[in-house]
Amino acid sequence: MSKSAIHPDQVRDYRLLMQRWHDLVKGLHGIELSIFGEAGGYPLMVVETENWNPKAPSIYLSAGIHGDEPAPVEALISWAEESLKKKPLYSWNWQIFPCLNPWGLERNIRFDAEGRDLNRCYQSRKVPQVSDQLRWMKRRSFDAAVTLHEDYDARGFYLYEIAAARPHWGESLCREIDAVMNTDPRHKIDGHSARNGLIRRRITPTLMKGHPEAFLLHFCHAKRTFTLETPSEGCLSDRVLLHRKFIQEIVKKVKLSVASPSKTATLRQEI
Ligand SMILES: [Zn+2]
Repeated sequence: MSKSAIHPDQVRDYRLLMQRWHDLVKGLHGIELSIFGEAGGYPLMVVETENWNPKAPSIYLSAGIHGDEPAPVEALISWAEESLKKKPLYSWNWQIFPCLNPWGLERNIRFDAEGRDLNRCYQSRKVPQVSDQLRWMKRRSFDAAVTLHEDYDARGFYLYEIAAARPHWGESLCREIDAVMNTDPRHKIDGHSARNGLIRRRITPTLMKGHPEAFLLHFCHAKRTFTLETPSEGCLSDRVLLHRKFIQEIVKKVKLSVASPSKTATLRQEI
């Protein structure tokens, strides 16, 4: 995985992003790109496995729900261009939302064209693009779900792990990626206790008004849910690299967890 200079304008060009995903999917057997809705005049993409195989690992990935967080959007496409065609990944079950707020991405604005924070709308049925996305996700279940974000207040990267399946992966995931970027040293992040960049949360359906995407994934779709945050003011190439490395580590963990019991035991000892 190489680190190269990335121009911010390139990252914000949604037409170019769609083209890259189209070009990638053209060469992938069994993975297709669909338009699942429209928002602010932009078509919304989902890239997913055509015929879901219940025996194969399954992963959900999303980026760009906040338009002023470009690194995850670039990281997702550049990771996919490098990795998705490789064996055995193309035969896994994927549901990927490459950019959930293209209107915001092109304008460097957190909110959508109607001024909504889409990541507080997953309980609402009045936001068409969220309802369209939820319909697309219906009956899908994932070994791991990852939502990729950035934060202007962050002083390094940090990771939310919603506590569900054990052994937890949060600590070792942070260790695997902290060579790329330091963890956020704060002990309180966004009002939550943090340790070495990790925030492990137990959540209830009434905890947060409006529901972020990660809550919905946790309650309805995923065994494990992670939200990675990189510092918005950091070097763009480093932020992209960190998100890519994180996706790679998630893939490794999922691969191990569905492999032999002995490997799972090793993982358990590690944590
Ligand atoms: Zn965000």
